[in-house]
Amino acid sequence: MAYNNGHTNGAGRNGAGGRHSKKRVGVLALQGDFDAHAKAITLAGGDAVEVRTAEQLGAVDGLVIPGGESTAMLKLLNIMNLVEPLAEFARTKPVFGTCAGAILLATEVLNPSQQSFGAMDLTVERNAYGRQIDSRVAMISPGEEFQARAGEGDVEAVFIRAPIIRRTGPGVKVLAEYDGDPVLVEQGRHLVATFHPELTHDARVHRLFLSKI
Ligand code: GLN
Repeated sequence: MAYNNGHTNGAGRNGAGGRHSKKRVGVLALQGDFDAHAKAITLAGGDAVEVRTAEQLGAVDGLVIPGGESTAMLKLLNIMNLVEPLAEFARTKPVFGTCAGAILLATEVLNPSQQSFGAMDLTVERNAYGRQIDSRVAMISPGEEFQARAGEGDVEAVFIRAPIIRRTGPGVKVLAEYDGDPVLVEQGRHLVATFHPELTHDARVHRLFLSKI
């Protein structure tokens, strides 16, 4: 097969079970914490596939853009000629952006302004929690809709030099807030978190994304 299935656990695609019912979820693997996302996708019941080329992108049903450094990721996307294929992908398939991934998916980026895909009608401010206390772990209480779709209870949210969503467009649904700001939002097929659900053992956010594919 043309795609890289290095993160499957063997039980789905090649295992004795026979039917291939798992969703193939690409994880953009140019920079950042893509490996943790691949593990989280596997934990959530998906088939995680590392994506570094347009060909690999063409073989997945949904894509995670991980946290990392959005400027570095943009540079690598340009070098790898992935900007147009990714924009095209987002026009028809679900994308889940966390932290730097959220920044890349927004329509407008502040502090400073930079290129982005505009797949979600959001204005995000980079590194918005300041320099001194720029990372934290917080318990957040998602709204009823999240609880109904993904499971009940609070969510441990790890913020690392996180952006703040300063504006949500009319088509954007806020699923969870922290300190009065949206931190988990969706618009149509896409999902964005400003925190890092891949760094905890709670697979609910990834399962929610899988349910959108
Ligand atoms: N500060 C990073 C950026 O602006 C995002 C941090 C992260 O992804 N954890 O791109």
